[in-house]
Amino acid sequence: MGKLDKNELRRDFSSKYKNYYQTELFSKEGFIRKQCKECKKNFWTLDSNRELCGDSEHEPYTFIKDVPKDISYVEFWNKFADFFKKNGHAVIDRYPVVSRWRQDLYFTIASIQDFQRIENGMMSFEYGANPLIVPQMCMRFNDVPNVGITGRHLTSFMMTGQHAFNYPKEGYWRDRTIELNYKFMTQVLGVKRESLTYIEDVWAMGDFSEFGPCLEPSVTPNSKLLWRIRIVK
Ligand SMILES: [Zn+2]
Repeated sequence: MGKLDKNELRRDFSSKYKNYYQTELFSKEGFIRKQCKECKKNFWTLDSNRELCGDSEHEPYTFIKDVPKDISYVEFWNKFADFFKKNGHAVIDRYPVVSRWRQDLYFTIASIQDFQRIENGMMSFEYGANPLIVPQMCMRFNDVPNVGITGRHLTSFMMTGQHAFNYPKEGYWRDRTIELNYKFMTQVLGVKRESLTYIEDVWAMGDFSEFGPCLEPSVTPNSKLLWRIRIVK
């Protein structure tokens, strides 16, 4: 097998989109599948006039002109936690940013890393609850050259981790993930259904030791971004 490539994988998964990307919610709510005029990625939308996928690379930000509502970091997390608690998730404390439980990494770069254990070159998962959410502070040193230049790169951020493990024995899979995401965005944050898109993409570790199809939600420009998180108080 040749070297794996994200673009090739995306093309392959998208050619079988019914298996990989069409969730129950899309069928139930009447989402349509389109191809972005700019980046050619496929995406799902309720807006039949939409031509772009919603990726911030080729759609301008709107919150510079339209000032959003302010919300503190804690208030935002509480909204997220309340919603997921009501939907059967445990809320756990974040892990340290120094990743002592992974010998191959110095720092925590994603919330999934909290649960990964590596022994004799094999990865397994250790989790105290299932499903769960975690407010994980992540460090991103590979973004340092972009900080202060793009206006959207930082050296750290809080990943609102939503994790379910070991499906079908326990946990849940794609349909429930997207259903919860959609409900949180529309019912809790008040995002208009038509401004939400789901882009067909591929998630992969740098070395492709793990990879798979993923859907990237995006809220776009036709409506105001409703919330701005105020980190310093
Ligand atoms: Zn696009």
